[in-house]
Amino acid sequence: MLKDSKTVWNNCLKIIGESVSEKDFRTWFEPIVPLRLANNVLTIQVPTLYVHEHLENNFVYLLRKAIDAELGPEGRLEYQVVIDKGNEKNRAYVINIPTNKTPQNKDPKVDIHADKYKSPFDLYELEGNGYASYLNPIYNFDNFIEGDCNRLARSAGMAVAQKPGITSFNPLLLYGGVGLGKTHLVQAIGNYIKQHDVGRFVLYVSCEKFTNQFIEAVRNNNMQGFMNFYLQVDVLVLDDVQFLSGKEKTQECFFHIFNHLHQAGKQIIMTTDRSPRELVGFEDRLLSRFKWGLSADLQQPDLETRIAIIQKKLQAEGIAMDIDVIEYIAHSIDTNVRELEGVIVSLMAQASLNRREIDLDLAKRTIQNIVQHVDKEVNIEVIQKRVAEHFGVTVDDLKDKSRKKELVVPRQVAIYFAKEYTDFSLKSIGYHFGGRDHSTVIHAIQSVNDMLKTDKDFKAAVQEIQKSFKTRPNKYSN
Ligand code: ADP
Ligand code: MG
Repeated sequence: MLKDSKTVWNNCLKIIGESVSEKDFRTWFEPIVPLRLANNVLTIQVPTLYVHEHLENNFVYLLRKAIDAELGPEGRLEYQVVIDKGNEKNRAYVINIPTNKTPQNKDPKVDIHADKYKSPFDLYELEGNGYASYLNPIYNFDNFIEGDCNRLARSAGMAVAQKPGITSFNPLLLYGGVGLGKTHLVQAIGNYIKQHDVGRFVLYVSCEKFTNQFIEAVRNNNMQGFMNFYLQVDVLVLDDVQFLSGKEKTQECFFHIFNHLHQAGKQIIMTTDRSPRELVGFEDRLLSRFKWGLSADLQQPDLETRIAIIQKKLQAEGIAMDIDVIEYIAHSIDTNVRELEGVIVSLMAQASLNRREIDLDLAKRTIQNIVQHVDKEVNIEVIQKRVAEHFGVTVDDLKDKSRKKELVVPRQVAIYFAKEYTDFSLKSIGYHFGGRDHSTVIHAIQSVNDMLKTDKDFKAAVQEIQKSFKTRPNKYSN
């Protein structure tokens, strides 16, 4: 006799009805619609993901018992959930989710051989009794230096790490320029959760990888497997979300994963290189979800934070360095932390290669090489050199304490350009001009501005130097 889904489900309901309260029965089971029975898989439609989650968490053994009685031990249950009813613009979207936990197979993560759970990661490894997290254990909160530039992001990250999925910071979106610590911080959150709650499935994935997996899944006709894998994640860390810009299909898929995880109280953590307001090439419905939780930015670290970061790195490497060298580096590299690290690594290499101490001189030469190499724009050394050449003085003269008029004007012009062309703070500019304080720097800039208004020859000279830079000031770029 061929069974049909309706009959099978009605029989299941009888079994279930014997074991649950009337209230539970009405709330959770009556709204379910049996859809089909094929290959011994019974598909039932549940109204929301929340209902699906609740059934799985509270009644899975009972469901299993009913399915066993009706379809035998090989019988399976599959939920269909309407995730998105659709509208004129977006079509309706439903997903099918196989039942997760069954008495024969208590932990779905162990069932890695079932195709539908197969990890889309190329090399899928197991860690403990679950999937690998792809987190890098070197990133933690202890070695993430706190400063004004990252305080909100760091403390929100800590709150999420302690209570994933429970705080209102869901999703947590960290944004900021390259090399400011986004990846470090989200990995620290992931590592913290894993350490404190081994049962949780934390997954770190870059959006580039996610996109490639998605394309691969489409190509291999394995969307279901791909979705099923991601729907099991408890804490999803998606790095560099801006990468999804313009990728409509990948975004759509992420949208559904996002909805499912979010509704089920799972934690989502994302990073982008700019604020959600500035993201382009994203569907509105996805962008609006990015704003549901908390967005926190990471800014360029201030001087004290840069010094602390350098010290921490040196300590980790077991290397000693004079404080004046550390300060010189901190004053010279203020773009991002990755560049700061690059300088330290290269300094260490130089020192061991040439068997010499890391002193100020070595630091200066290394930074000159690196900065000019990384950043083709005008930097403070170039400014000082060109200005000195133009006025027929030396770079050292510009840093000298002397107040001779023939030195004061070139010095002020160089300071003026430093302000125009670099992102250095007034304090750091002063540092590069013989350790002058910031009021001297302000005064210099003011004097140049005054002279530009009144003195035509002076203005022509300034313009000529400016031409030699062949690039517009930082301030006016973008
Ligand atoms: P992003 O992902 O924002 O481009 P990363 O997280 O990769 O930046 O950071 C670049 C490097 O700088 C990493 O090696 C990271 O450990 C380091 N770094 C960034 N911010 C900090 C910080 N506040 N404390 C310590 N190290 C940091
Ligand atoms: Mg990163």
